[in-house]
Amino acid sequence: MKTTVNILPASDGDCILIHTFDNAKQPFIILIDGGRGKTFKNTLKKAIQEYEKIDLVILTHIHNDHIGGLLKLFKSSLGKKIIFDKIIVNAPNLIAFSKEEEIGYNEAYDFEKEIIANYKDIKIINDITNLNDKNLGLPEGIEITFLSPDLEALNRLKKDWKPLGKDSEDTFISSVVKPCEDHDKTLELLAETDDITQPPSDIENASSLAFILKTNDFNGLFLGDAHHKIVSESIKKCAEKHKLSLPLQFNLIKVSHHGSIENSSIKLLNLIQSENFIFSTNGGKTGKHPSRTTIAKIVCNPNRTTKTINLCTNYPLEEVEKRTGALLNPNEETKHNFNLLNKTIFQ
Ligand SMILES: [Zn+2]
Repeated sequence: MKTTVNILPASDGDCILIHTFDNAKQPFIILIDGGRGKTFKNTLKKAIQEYEKIDLVILTHIHNDHIGGLLKLFKSSLGKKIIFDKIIVNAPNLIAFSKEEEIGYNEAYDFEKEIIANYKDIKIINDITNLNDKNLGLPEGIEITFLSPDLEALNRLKKDWKPLGKDSEDTFISSVVKPCEDHDKTLELLAETDDITQPPSDIENASSLAFILKTNDFNGLFLGDAHHKIVSESIKKCAEKHKLSLPLQFNLIKVSHHGSIENSSIKLLNLIQSENFIFSTNGGKTGKHPSRTTIAKIVCNPNRTTKTINLCTNYPLEEVEKRTGALLNPNEETKHNFNLLNKTIFQ
Protein backbone atom coordinates (compact mmCIF):
# COMPACT_ATOMS: atom_id res chain seq x y z
CA MET A 1 0.00 0.00 0.00
CA LYS A 2 1.42 3.33 -1.09
CA THR A 3 0.17 6.91 -1.19
CA THR A 4 -0.48 8.05 -4.76
CA VAL A 5 -0.99 11.66 -5.79
CA ASN A 6 -2.56 12.33 -9.18
CA ILE A 7 -2.33 15.90 -10.46
CA LEU A 8 -5.12 15.80 -13.01
CA PRO A 9 -4.89 18.04 -16.07
CA ALA A 10 -7.34 20.84 -15.22
CA SER A 11 -6.65 23.53 -17.86
CA ASP A 12 -5.21 26.48 -15.96
CA GLY A 13 -6.60 25.23 -12.63
CA ASP A 14 -6.10 22.61 -9.92
CA CYS A 15 -7.70 19.19 -9.50
CA ILE A 16 -5.76 16.75 -7.33
CA LEU A 17 -6.72 13.23 -6.33
CA ILE A 18 -4.90 11.53 -3.46
CA HIS A 19 -5.13 7.86 -2.48
CA THR A 20 -3.64 7.23 0.89
CA PHE A 21 -4.35 5.03 3.92
CA ASP A 22 -4.74 5.37 7.67
CA ASN A 23 -3.09 3.48 10.55
CA ALA A 24 -5.65 0.69 10.22
CA LYS A 25 -4.57 0.33 6.56
CA GLN A 26 -7.97 1.55 5.40
CA PRO A 27 -7.92 3.58 2.19
CA PHE A 28 -8.48 7.31 2.53
CA ILE A 29 -9.28 9.30 -0.62
CA ILE A 30 -8.92 13.07 -0.86
CA LEU A 31 -10.01 15.31 -3.73
CA ILE A 32 -8.57 18.81 -3.75
CA ASP A 33 -10.46 21.23 -6.03
CA GLY A 34 -12.10 20.35 -9.34
CA GLY A 35 -10.43 22.56 -11.93
CA ARG A 36 -12.64 24.43 -14.39
CA GLY A 37 -16.12 23.19 -15.25
CA LYS A 38 -14.88 21.26 -18.28
CA THR A 39 -12.32 19.41 -16.11
CA PHE A 40 -15.13 17.23 -14.80
CA LYS A 41 -16.01 15.92 -18.24
CA ASN A 42 -12.42 15.87 -19.53
CA THR A 43 -10.57 14.13 -16.71
CA LEU A 44 -12.14 14.02 -13.26
CA LYS A 45 -15.17 11.94 -14.23
CA LYS A 46 -13.07 9.14 -15.65
CA ALA A 47 -10.62 9.24 -12.75
CA ILE A 48 -13.32 8.66 -10.12
CA GLN A 49 -16.07 6.79 -11.93
CA GLU A 50 -15.39 3.50 -10.16
CA TYR A 51 -15.26 5.07 -6.71
CA GLU A 52 -17.77 4.24 -4.04
CA LYS A 53 -16.50 6.77 -1.56
CA ILE A 54 -14.40 9.92 -1.35
CA ASP A 55 -13.44 10.59 2.24
CA LEU A 56 -12.51 14.24 2.04
CA VAL A 57 -13.09 17.00 -0.50
CA ILE A 58 -11.22 20.27 -0.07
CA LEU A 59 -12.21 23.41 -1.97
CA THR A 60 -9.21 25.70 -1.52
CA HIS A 61 -11.02 28.83 -2.73
CA ILE A 62 -13.85 29.96 -4.95
CA HIS A 63 -12.10 30.88 -8.19
CA ASN A 64 -13.54 29.15 -11.23
CA ASP A 65 -10.36 27.25 -12.02
CA HIS A 66 -10.81 25.45 -8.66
CA ILE A 67 -14.55 25.28 -8.00
CA GLY A 68 -15.89 24.76 -11.56
CA GLY A 69 -15.28 21.00 -11.84
CA LEU A 70 -16.45 20.35 -8.28
CA LEU A 71 -19.74 22.08 -8.96
CA LYS A 72 -20.21 19.89 -12.07
CA LEU A 73 -19.32 16.76 -10.08
CA PHE A 74 -21.79 17.44 -7.30
CA LYS A 75 -24.55 18.25 -9.80
CA SER A 76 -23.90 15.08 -11.81
CA SER A 77 -25.44 11.64 -11.46
CA LEU A 78 -21.97 10.26 -10.76
CA GLY A 79 -21.68 12.62 -7.80
CA LYS A 80 -24.93 11.29 -6.41
CA LYS A 81 -23.63 7.71 -6.60
CA ILE A 82 -20.45 8.40 -4.66
CA ILE A 83 -20.48 8.66 -0.88
CA PHE A 84 -18.76 11.84 0.24
CA ASP A 85 -17.85 11.81 3.88
CA LYS A 86 -16.57 15.34 4.49
CA ILE A 87 -16.03 18.56 2.65
CA ILE A 88 -14.00 21.55 3.69
CA VAL A 89 -15.46 24.46 1.73
CA ASN A 90 -13.61 27.71 1.70
CA ALA A 91 -16.70 29.81 1.11
CA PRO A 92 -17.78 30.68 4.60
CA ASN A 93 -21.45 31.15 5.37
CA LEU A 94 -22.44 31.74 1.79
CA ILE A 95 -26.06 30.94 2.31
CA ALA A 96 -26.34 33.39 5.18
CA PHE A 97 -24.61 36.07 3.16
CA SER A 98 -26.70 35.62 0.06
CA LYS A 99 -29.90 36.11 1.99
CA GLU A 100 -28.75 39.61 2.58
CA GLU A 101 -27.89 39.85 -1.11
CA GLU A 102 -24.43 40.94 -0.25
CA ILE A 103 -22.72 38.46 -2.53
CA GLY A 104 -22.71 37.50 -6.15
CA TYR A 105 -20.38 34.56 -6.17
CA ASN A 106 -22.73 32.46 -8.22
CA GLU A 107 -20.72 29.28 -8.51
CA ALA A 108 -19.86 29.22 -4.84
CA TYR A 109 -23.44 29.90 -3.87
CA ASP A 110 -24.74 27.24 -6.27
CA PHE A 111 -22.21 24.80 -4.92
CA GLU A 112 -23.22 25.15 -1.33
CA LYS A 113 -26.91 25.09 -2.23
CA GLU A 114 -26.42 21.85 -4.19
CA ILE A 115 -24.61 20.17 -1.33
CA ILE A 116 -27.13 21.20 1.27
CA ALA A 117 -30.06 20.09 -0.91
CA ASN A 118 -28.74 16.80 -2.25
CA TYR A 119 -25.97 15.55 0.00
CA LYS A 120 -27.63 15.22 3.36
CA ASP A 121 -25.00 12.94 4.86
CA ILE A 122 -21.91 14.91 3.98
CA LYS A 123 -20.21 16.67 6.86
CA ILE A 124 -19.68 20.27 5.76
CA ILE A 125 -16.88 22.23 7.34
CA ASN A 126 -17.39 25.77 6.10
CA ASP A 127 -16.13 27.77 9.01
CA ILE A 128 -12.46 27.67 8.20
CA THR A 129 -11.26 30.02 10.92
CA ASN A 130 -8.65 28.31 13.12
CA LEU A 131 -9.01 24.99 11.30
CA ASN A 132 -6.00 23.55 13.10
CA ASP A 133 -7.82 23.82 16.42
CA LYS A 134 -10.89 22.00 15.15
CA ASN A 135 -11.43 18.27 15.34
CA LEU A 136 -11.87 17.38 11.68
CA GLY A 137 -12.53 13.76 12.54
CA LEU A 138 -9.66 12.44 10.42
CA PRO A 139 -8.63 8.84 11.08
CA GLU A 140 -5.40 8.03 12.92
CA GLY A 141 -2.49 8.34 10.53
CA ILE A 142 -3.92 11.18 8.42
CA GLU A 143 -2.77 14.60 9.54
CA ILE A 144 -3.53 17.95 7.94
CA THR A 145 -1.92 21.20 9.10
CA PHE A 146 -3.42 24.34 7.58
CA LEU A 147 -1.07 27.20 6.71
CA SER A 148 -3.42 29.63 5.00
CA PRO A 149 -5.58 31.70 5.12
CA ASP A 150 -4.99 33.84 8.15
CA LEU A 151 -7.81 35.65 9.90
CA GLU A 152 -7.11 38.95 8.20
CA ALA A 153 -7.48 37.45 4.71
CA LEU A 154 -10.68 35.67 5.69
CA ASN A 155 -12.22 38.81 7.10
CA ARG A 156 -11.40 40.70 3.92
CA LEU A 157 -13.05 37.97 1.85
CA LYS A 158 -16.23 38.16 3.88
CA LYS A 159 -16.28 41.94 3.66
CA ASP A 160 -15.54 42.39 -0.04
CA TRP A 161 -17.61 39.81 -1.92
CA LYS A 162 -17.97 40.67 -5.57
CA PRO A 163 -19.28 38.80 -8.63
CA LEU A 164 -16.99 36.40 -10.44
CA GLY A 165 -16.66 36.33 -14.20
CA LYS A 166 -17.97 33.52 -16.35
CA ASP A 167 -16.21 30.20 -16.71
CA SER A 168 -14.88 31.26 -20.08
CA GLU A 169 -13.05 28.82 -22.28
CA ASP A 170 -9.38 29.45 -22.68
CA THR A 171 -8.87 29.41 -26.38
CA PHE A 172 -5.61 31.29 -26.49
CA ILE A 173 -2.88 29.18 -28.03
CA SER A 174 -0.17 30.84 -30.02
CA SER A 175 0.90 28.84 -33.03
CA VAL A 176 4.63 29.46 -32.81
CA VAL A 177 6.69 28.83 -29.70
CA LYS A 178 8.30 32.13 -28.84
CA PRO A 179 10.69 32.65 -25.97
CA CYS A 180 8.91 33.49 -22.74
CA GLU A 181 9.17 36.74 -20.84
CA ASP A 182 12.58 37.24 -19.19
CA HIS A 183 14.08 34.69 -21.54
CA ASP A 184 17.12 36.88 -22.04
CA LYS A 185 17.98 36.95 -18.34
CA THR A 186 19.90 34.08 -16.75
CA LEU A 187 18.27 31.98 -14.04
CA GLU A 188 20.90 33.21 -11.55
CA LEU A 189 19.88 36.79 -12.23
CA LEU A 190 16.15 36.07 -12.13
CA ALA A 191 16.56 34.26 -8.81
CA GLU A 192 17.67 37.54 -7.30
CA THR A 193 14.54 39.39 -8.44
CA ASP A 194 12.77 41.01 -5.52
CA ASP A 195 9.77 39.12 -4.22
CA ILE A 196 6.41 40.56 -5.17
CA THR A 197 3.88 41.23 -2.47
CA GLN A 198 0.38 40.48 -3.61
CA PRO A 199 -2.02 43.40 -3.67
CA PRO A 200 -4.63 43.51 -0.90
CA SER A 201 -7.28 43.48 -3.64
CA ASP A 202 -6.42 39.85 -4.46
CA ILE A 203 -8.82 38.69 -1.76
CA GLU A 204 -9.85 35.29 -3.10
CA ASN A 205 -6.32 34.00 -3.56
CA ALA A 206 -5.33 35.50 -0.21
CA SER A 207 -8.11 33.41 1.33
CA SER A 208 -6.95 30.19 -0.39
CA LEU A 209 -6.43 27.18 1.82
CA ALA A 210 -2.88 25.84 1.89
CA PHE A 211 -1.87 22.83 3.96
CA ILE A 212 0.56 20.07 4.79
CA LEU A 213 -0.75 16.53 4.38
CA LYS A 214 1.15 13.95 6.41
CA THR A 215 0.35 10.26 6.25
CA ASN A 216 2.21 7.05 7.07
CA ASP A 217 4.38 7.21 3.98
CA PHE A 218 3.90 10.71 2.62
CA ASN A 219 4.46 14.34 3.47
CA GLY A 220 3.19 16.83 0.90
CA LEU A 221 2.67 20.57 0.73
CA PHE A 222 -0.39 21.78 -1.18
CA LEU A 223 -0.33 25.52 -1.58
CA GLY A 224 -3.53 26.17 -3.54
CA ASP A 225 -3.28 29.75 -4.79
CA ALA A 226 -2.19 31.07 -1.39
CA HIS A 227 -0.06 34.13 -0.77
CA HIS A 228 3.60 33.46 0.06
CA LYS A 229 3.68 35.85 2.99
CA ILE A 230 0.81 34.16 4.81
CA VAL A 231 2.28 30.68 4.19
CA SER A 232 5.80 31.72 5.26
CA GLU A 233 4.54 33.13 8.56
CA SER A 234 2.54 29.96 9.26
CA ILE A 235 5.45 27.67 8.44
CA LYS A 236 7.73 29.55 10.82
CA LYS A 237 5.13 29.32 13.59
CA CYS A 238 4.48 25.63 12.87
CA ALA A 239 8.21 24.79 12.92
CA GLU A 240 8.63 26.62 16.21
CA LYS A 241 5.63 24.97 17.82
CA HIS A 242 6.63 21.44 16.81
CA LYS A 243 10.39 22.05 17.10
CA LEU A 244 11.02 21.19 13.45
CA SER A 245 14.18 22.25 11.71
CA LEU A 246 13.92 24.44 8.64
CA PRO A 247 13.68 24.09 5.74
CA LEU A 248 10.83 21.60 5.99
CA GLN A 249 11.24 18.62 3.67
CA PHE A 250 8.37 17.32 1.57
CA ASN A 251 7.85 14.46 -0.86
CA LEU A 252 6.26 17.01 -3.14
CA ILE A 253 5.25 20.65 -3.20
CA LYS A 254 2.27 21.85 -5.26
CA VAL A 255 3.58 25.32 -6.03
CA SER A 256 1.13 28.13 -5.30
CA HIS A 257 -0.99 29.72 -8.02
CA HIS A 258 0.22 27.56 -10.91
CA GLY A 259 3.80 28.84 -10.55
CA SER A 260 2.98 32.53 -11.01
CA ILE A 261 5.65 35.12 -10.33
CA GLU A 262 3.63 36.72 -7.53
CA ASN A 263 2.97 33.72 -5.31
CA SER A 264 6.40 32.20 -4.71
CA SER A 265 9.05 34.15 -2.86
CA ILE A 266 12.64 33.53 -1.90
CA LYS A 267 11.60 33.84 1.75
CA LEU A 268 9.05 31.04 1.31
CA LEU A 269 11.36 28.84 -0.76
CA ASN A 270 14.00 29.16 1.95
CA LEU A 271 11.58 27.40 4.30
CA ILE A 272 10.43 24.50 2.11
CA GLN A 273 12.35 21.91 0.13
CA SER A 274 11.52 18.93 -2.04
CA GLU A 275 12.72 16.85 -4.92
CA ASN A 276 9.41 17.48 -6.71
CA PHE A 277 7.86 20.89 -7.36
CA ILE A 278 4.57 20.79 -9.22
CA PHE A 279 3.07 23.40 -11.53
CA SER A 280 -0.57 22.58 -12.13
CA THR A 281 -1.23 24.47 -15.34
CA ASN A 282 -1.50 24.26 -19.12
CA GLY A 283 0.40 27.53 -19.35
CA GLY A 284 -2.42 29.70 -18.08
CA LYS A 285 -4.80 32.05 -19.82
CA THR A 286 -2.28 34.83 -20.07
CA GLY A 287 0.63 32.47 -20.72
CA LYS A 288 2.46 33.34 -17.52
CA HIS A 289 2.23 30.05 -15.61
CA PRO A 290 4.74 28.92 -14.59
CA SER A 291 6.94 31.97 -14.48
CA ARG A 292 10.61 31.64 -15.39
CA THR A 293 11.38 33.70 -12.30
CA THR A 294 9.64 31.14 -10.08
CA ILE A 295 11.65 28.37 -11.76
CA ALA A 296 14.83 30.39 -11.11
CA LYS A 297 13.99 30.96 -7.45
CA ILE A 298 13.40 27.24 -6.92
CA VAL A 299 16.47 25.88 -8.68
CA CYS A 300 18.97 28.57 -7.67
CA ASN A 301 17.91 28.57 -4.02
CA PRO A 302 21.05 28.41 -1.86
CA ASN A 303 19.11 26.41 0.77
CA ARG A 304 18.27 23.72 -1.72
CA THR A 305 18.78 20.28 -0.25
CA THR A 306 18.37 17.86 -3.14
CA LYS A 307 20.90 17.18 -5.83
CA THR A 308 18.37 17.02 -8.63
CA ILE A 309 15.04 18.81 -8.61
CA ASN A 310 12.09 17.76 -10.74
CA LEU A 311 9.87 20.62 -11.85
CA CYS A 312 6.72 18.87 -13.01
CA THR A 313 3.91 20.16 -15.18
CA ASN A 314 0.64 18.26 -15.53
CA TYR A 315 0.48 18.99 -19.27
CA PRO A 316 3.04 18.08 -21.93
CA LEU A 317 5.71 20.73 -21.99
CA GLU A 318 5.06 21.53 -25.65
CA GLU A 319 1.52 22.46 -24.77
CA VAL A 320 2.53 24.62 -21.82
CA GLU A 321 5.18 26.38 -23.89
CA LYS A 322 2.68 27.16 -26.64
CA ARG A 323 1.20 29.54 -24.11
CA THR A 324 4.20 30.62 -22.04
CA GLY A 325 6.87 30.59 -24.72
CA ALA A 326 10.05 28.53 -24.29
CA LEU A 327 10.75 28.46 -20.58
CA LEU A 328 14.37 27.41 -20.64
CA ASN A 329 17.55 28.08 -22.56
CA PRO A 330 19.78 25.17 -23.65
CA ASN A 331 21.90 23.64 -20.89
CA GLU A 332 20.10 25.34 -18.02
CA GLU A 333 18.79 22.02 -16.70
CA THR A 334 22.28 20.50 -16.63
CA LYS A 335 23.88 23.60 -15.19
CA HIS A 336 21.44 23.84 -12.29
CA ASN A 337 20.70 20.11 -11.85
CA PHE A 338 17.01 20.01 -12.54
CA ASN A 339 14.52 18.51 -14.95
CA LEU A 340 11.48 20.29 -16.33
CA LEU A 341 9.12 17.48 -17.27
CA ASN A 342 5.53 16.36 -17.67
CA LYS A 343 4.63 14.16 -14.70
CA THR A 344 1.21 13.76 -13.13
CA ILE A 345 1.39 10.70 -10.89
CA PHE A 346 3.55 10.60 -7.77
CA GLN A 347 4.01 7.51 -5.60
ZN1 LIG B 1 -5.98 29.03 -9.54
